[in-house]
Amino acid sequence: MRYAVISDIHANLEAFQKTLEDIDSQNVDEIICLGDIVGYYPNPNECVELCKKRHIQCIRGNHDDAVTGICGIEDFNPVAQEALIWTSRHLDRANKEWLLHLPEHLVIEEKILAVHGSPWHPYAYIFSAQEAAHAFTFLQTNYPQIQVCFYGHTHQKALYYTKESSVEEVEKNRKYILGNKGLYLINPGSVGQPRDGSPGAFYAIYDSQTREIEFRHLTYDLTLTQRKVIEVGLPYMLAERLNLGY
Ligand code: ZN
Repeated sequence: MRYAVISDIHANLEAFQKTLEDIDSQNVDEIICLGDIVGYYPNPNECVELCKKRHIQCIRGNHDDAVTGICGIEDFNPVAQEALIWTSRHLDRANKEWLLHLPEHLVIEEKILAVHGSPWHPYAYIFSAQEAAHAFTFLQTNYPQIQVCFYGHTHQKALYYTKESSVEEVEKNRKYILGNKGLYLINPGSVGQPRDGSPGAFYAIYDSQTREIEFRHLTYDLTLTQRKVIEVGLPYMLAERLNLGY
């Protein structure tokens, strides 16, 4: 099976459309989304409806949880809070209901785990080899059959793996073949709001047969998204950061 793994769309329709267009040219069998479909950008309804229409296997992220009331907004920064209030006001009831009923994690082919932030908590971040080591220990104890765990939430692509007793990190390789031994933690980056320092949309393709992972980076018309941010009155900083990819 060839999977497209996408994450952190954040209601950025232009980035999402461009990503789907690219996925359509890549002979993919299934699309998996690691959560944060909404929050920050101006098209939450359109992005949720695209997920439904394209039968994307989605899980919930912290922003999705905040707009449905699963969690409060007090732990978010002021800009995120403002965007969450705006999103909650503009999201249709049926789309909210759909987000509310998404699973927290997914197990695919019995050996792939999809989570939003980390295997031990959906809102926890994996930013370092130390945090990855904690995730690997948790996986070995709680999900002994899992070989590859996909996560998002940091908006930065990453690939960690276990080598003997240490944790190694591979970065910025476009393609990489996963070994047969060891565990892997992979972040495909963010579709809607990358924080790698490069503007555009990021996602990954994983082939469970050949065990090849490919990180993809696309450019799209982000000036259109920026214009919409300003038009609907979302915080200006959300438009600005798309230029920086941060
Ligand atoms: Zn996010």
